[in-house]
Amino acid sequence: MKRPTILVLGAGYGGLTTVVNLQKSLGADDANIVLINKNEYHYESTWLHEAAAGTMSPESVRYDIKDVINSNKVKFVQAEVQAIDVTGKVVTTNVGTHTYDYLVISLGFEGETFGIPGLDKYALSMANVKAARQIREHIEYQFATWSTEEVKDDSRLTIVVGGAGFTGIEFLGELGNRVPELCKEFDVPQEKVRVLCVEAAPMVLPGFDPELVDYAVRHLNSKGIEFSIGTPVVEATPEGVNIKKGEDVFEFVKAGTVVWAAGVRGNRLIEETGIENMRARVKVDKDLRAPGYSDVFIVGDCALMINEAVNRPFPPTAQIAMQQGDMCANNIIALMKGEPTSDFTPDLKGSVCSLGDSDAIGVVFGKKVTGTKASFMKKMIDNRALFMIGGLGLTLKKGKFNLLK
Ligand code: FAD
Ligand code: NAD
Repeated sequence: MKRPTILVLGAGYGGLTTVVNLQKSLGADDANIVLINKNEYHYESTWLHEAAAGTMSPESVRYDIKDVINSNKVKFVQAEVQAIDVTGKVVTTNVGTHTYDYLVISLGFEGETFGIPGLDKYALSMANVKAARQIREHIEYQFATWSTEEVKDDSRLTIVVGGAGFTGIEFLGELGNRVPELCKEFDVPQEKVRVLCVEAAPMVLPGFDPELVDYAVRHLNSKGIEFSIGTPVVEATPEGVNIKKGEDVFEFVKAGTVVWAAGVRGNRLIEETGIENMRARVKVDKDLRAPGYSDVFIVGDCALMINEAVNRPFPPTAQIAMQQGDMCANNIIALMKGEPTSDFTPDLKGSVCSLGDSDAIGVVFGKKVTGTKASFMKKMIDNRALFMIGGLGLTLKKGKFNLLK
């Protein structure tokens, strides 16, 4: 019998979990498993706010893919996917083409700008580790330039964060700790620095528990962070952002740094596949296959599943991406054996939003948590993700062990 080729695109949480599970369950002769990723490393997307604020080095949020794959069973190709032809069953990359019997698309998320003018050009977004590093360096550059300028432009020290979802709030939590460090490092009086979060919805962390939201806002306010709520950003320019404050009322905020954290979409390559999608997310069948394509699985942020209890999509999270990776591997193996596939149901354990290194808020197994306890849980969740993919060795190498800080 012909050995099938399983081609996995993207080594984020979804893709890497799929590959790690396939290599555990299959023998070296059972299949050709090929993993393609842009970089030779995986980065923890869930830690990007730390790399962006500069509270963690970009190096610390990533690890070599070769450290977690078995090269006897998996061929790793460092390449950038450029096109996916699901009819001809060919994937084109910058270094060659690949055919497949089973395809797993796990190319992750991109920042969504909703067509708001100027954001693509003038705002920074922490969509990957290189972009996160750019935010860190941009902020440092603004502080360094301010301290050498003869005629000082204080707006260099204004940081606007668009969006008070989980990403925006976690980034602000890190900035709360980082700004005093930056001021010390670059001889900047802290009262000159302004950090403003602009949120379109009428509340911070829309839809989250109001008591926990209140805790987070008080914590961030105590660090000097301001909020403008119910006021969408409508434009970005080289000088800053325009905010809609009411019917025909706009305020321009001059800012040296604009970080856009107001939502995500799937990878743009999905839009060119011909598979029906919404903002590059495919409403997958229950067994994670793309509708109409029996050999194409989609996992992680490029997949969309409806939570029937509330008739809304499940949020794109690492938690779900990893669970989908498990199921995707099982379903490919089932198809190889001629057995039926299983349906995917997310097992939601809760969510914890960090507020810097030593504080957090969350709901875990239905219980609210705050403070050191929540921060401890967040670090344990981060360590668990490492453990699930790379076992104890990777956890000890890259894990967070300042647990009670
Ligand atoms: P990704 O993790 O985005 O991985 C995609 C991979 O594909 C990357 O390795 C990328 O380099 C690669 N790739 C992309 N394009 C190409 C290409 N053209 N060619 C080759 N390779 C390519 N979720 C949680 O559950 N808990 C959290 O605490 C949490 N915190 C977060 C914090 C931040 C700051 C952010 C931004 C997100 C957070 N999330 C969290 C959401 C979570 O990070 C995503 O849901 C998750 O990363 C999705 O996993 P994925 O495998 O689909 O994609
Ligand atoms: P999001 O969509 O959850 O939040 C974006 C926020 O931006 C919303 O509050 C929205 O109202 C606001 N917004 C939209 N347009 C705006 C505008 N024009 N001006 C101002 N504000 C605007 O996106 P996210 O925070 O990037 O999160 C993406 C996904 O990653 C979510 O599923 C989230 O749950 C997950 N995530 C989880 C964690 C965690 O579990 N700790 C951390 C980060 C992200």
